[in-house]
Amino acid sequence: MNLHKCLQCHRDFTAPDNSQTVRCPYCGNVQTASNSTAANSQQAYGQQPPYGSQQPYGQQSYGPQYAYGSQPTPDIGVFDVGPSGKSRGVAGLLALLIGWLGVHYFYCGKVGGGFICILLCAVTCGLWSVLTFVQGILMMCMRSDEFERKYVNTPSTFPLF
Ligand SMILES: [Zn+2]
Repeated sequence: MNLHKCLQCHRDFTAPDNSQTVRCPYCGNVQTASNSTAANSQQAYGQQPPYGSQQPYGQQSYGPQYAYGSQPTPDIGVFDVGPSGKSRGVAGLLALLIGWLGVHYFYCGKVGGGFICILLCAVTCGLWSVLTFVQGILMMCMRSDEFERKYVNTPSTFPLF
């Protein structure tokens, strides 16, 4: 017995080795036994070019969608200064390195928040610096306009996240 693949319904079936033609038990399609796999692979390759030629069209249509969708306006660089005069990169680095001193709050003009930060760090025996570290990572990763909205232009004296 030999394993064959039907060209019509693409199902596997077995047929005797000595037979020149095999008949698919599922759909009744008759094909030559020896070339069945080769013919099948040729057919598979023959079907691929249409899909391949469609891919460039698909990529072209995705391009404008990405441009209009996920990136409405290009963001400024991490260390570029925004309209408020603050850079999220500097604030983020300060929060990462010496966040427990509340320096990133002072930098953002949140003097009260800076003092609260120092106080909280003293009360929590330094555990608070874990939070300011996370703040630093978030600041570096977020968009500049989001950073300014959350940390600089907010009415809150102690903006957290
Ligand atoms: Zn078949």
